[in-house]
Formats: sequence, structure tokens, C-alpha cells
Amino acid sequence: MSKTSLPPVVVAGGAGYIGSHMVRMLLESGFHPVVVDNLATGHAEAVGQATFRQGDIGDPSFMAPLLREFQPACVMHFAAASLVGESMTAPAKYWRNNLVQTLALLDAMRECGVGQFIFSSTAAVYGNPVEVPITEQHPRNPINPYGHSKLAVETALQDYDRAYGLRSIALRYFNAAGAHPDGSIGERHEPETHLIPLVLQVASGRRREIARFGSNFPTPDGSCIRDYVHVQDLCTAHLLALKKLGEGAASTAYNLGNGSGHSVNEVIAAARRVTGHPIPVRDDPPREGDPPVLVADARRARAELGWAPQYADIETIIAHAWQWERSSLARAA
Ligand code: UDP
Repeated sequence: MSKTSLPPVVVAGGAGYIGSHMVRMLLESGFHPVVVDNLATGHAEAVGQATFRQGDIGDPSFMAPLLREFQPACVMHFAAASLVGESMTAPAKYWRNNLVQTLALLDAMRECGVGQFIFSSTAAVYGNPVEVPITEQHPRNPINPYGHSKLAVETALQDYDRAYGLRSIALRYFNAAGAHPDGSIGERHEPETHLIPLVLQVASGRRREIARFGSNFPTPDGSCIRDYVHVQDLCTAHLLALKKLGEGAASTAYNLGNGSGHSVNEVIAAARRVTGHPIPVRDDPPREGDPPVLVADARRARAELGWAPQYADIETIIAHAWQWERSSLARAA
């Protein structure tokens, strides 16, 4: 294990997709990541060399002793349920996992004197955009329980700062995608619902075709446009947010996206170029609650955090995800 000189950082959900990339980056940057994960959806092997404690963030008898033991500078919170469609049919899961558990985590932090928090929020807090690109000032009107649960935490965070001095940065991700450039970790959801991994499962032979959810949207090619942002770039933003909180920054929220959108058709075309596979498409009806266009205005993160995405190019994002798809398939064989 690498020698660490910087303080411990608790990574809640560090065995999950984005959390595991964060753990790797913290280790490489000299921090001591302490992973907390109940492995409900995470994978123990994704944690790598980091300290790992299995348990629930919402269980104070687990969290408080852990926070006292490590006295982290900050808690980064990736442990959440994050599927819009599922949140419509199972809202109780979203309110419990994403709000109730998070409040318990914040209370354990207060009890143990841990005063900095970085929160994985989402573009879903905005709901249907009234203007694009979406700035942080855009009205926040979520249209599903997932977005509502994340917005509720953001609201609680403002109150917790005012009353308890717990400072936080909420990072509103647009469409997280890609994988570690070395192919060793990546996205692994069961069941998979996200566009890029599903498209690549067609290319690798795990699926026959990709369903395109809607082809009559008011966009140039009729398919939905999203702002795909590389998981490594999301993690870099967390490191910068950690630095900013360490310098005494006030609580705030930032959008994280590349500021350019790609349609479903463009993603499929890029995946064809990257993989050389024809990737057959089937037309399905639109998914409930999918806005036609979601693109971030992330200029504040660039200006105030100094964030500069390294992997904004959609083909690079897909190429890294493709490397991961092939290596995970080879491991499963
Ligand atoms: N999408 C699609 N087929 C799929 C999965 C997703 O056409 O099998 C579309 C979806 O309607 C959306 C975009 O791809 O416009 C991105 O969806 P994803 O689930 O990856 O992320 P979300 O935008 O829901 O966070």
C-alpha cells in the first residue's frame, strides 16, 4: 500500500462505480481513503488497497466509532440509489437510502466533530429544463423521487451549515460515464440500465441490440441529448472540492458536465467507430420523465474550483468504457 501523508477521507459508497474511481484517485494523491460500503450494489474487489469497513452509513453504532477512529478531514458521499425509473416505482427506497440514511450520516459526523462533506448530487434536481445549458441558478423542480431525494439533502445541507457549521459542496453530476483508463475498474450495475454500457454490451456480444428510447424528440436527430462526463473528471472535481473546503470555502453546489451534448444516435455512432461493431438499434417508446435535452453550464466549477475536464471527447469516454467491458468479459470467461 502506498505511503500516505495527507489525512483520512471517508468514502461512503467507495465500492460503487464512481466511488471506486474516487478511492483510487485519493490513494494516488496521497490521501488515506477509508471506504464505507454495505455492498448492496458495490463490489468489494473494486476497493483495491484502501481501508474498507462494511456497514451502513445510516447506522450510528457503526459510523460514530469509525469516524472517531479515523477523524477524517471530510466525508465524500457516493452511497445512494440512482435510477430514475426505479425511483418512480419504489420511492420508499429512495427516500430511505438517499435522505434518511444521509441525515443519519450527517448526524454521526456532527457527533464526532467531522465538519466537511462532499455530496454526490445530480442534474435531476433541476427537473425539466426551462433553459439549456443549465446553470446552478436554474429553478430546481425535480420530476421524480430520485431528484426530490437529492434536492432534500441539498436543502438539509444549507440548514446544517447555518446551524452547525457543517460545510459542504454538492456536485451535481450530469451523465457519468467512462471507466479508469487502465481498464481495471469501471461501471458494473446489475441490472444495467445506462446507455453507454448497454451499447457496449451489444458490441461485445452480450446483447443483440440497443433499444432507443424515443426518436421523435424535438432535437436535431429526434433522439435525447445528454451531457456525458468522464468518471475520472468527476473524481478530479471532488479532489478540487476537498481542497476548497480545506481552505475554508463556504457551502455551495456546482454542476459537473462538459457543456456539450450528444444524442443517443451520436453515442451509438461513436460506439460503432470505437468498437467496429454495427450495433443494431431497436426503436422503443420514450422512457417516462426523460427530458429531450440535458446539458450543463459548468463554468462555475471551472472558474471557482479550477476544474478542467481531461476526457471531454465522447469517443475517449466510450473507448475507456469499451476497454472495461472487454476486460470484465475476459475476467468472467
Ligand atoms: N437510453 C436509451 N436506451 C437505453 C438506455 C438509455 O435510449 O437502453 C437513453 C435515455 O432515454 C437517455 C439517455 O439514453 O436519453 C441516457 O440514459 P441513461 O439511462 O444512460 O442516463 P440518465 O440520463 O437516465 O441518467
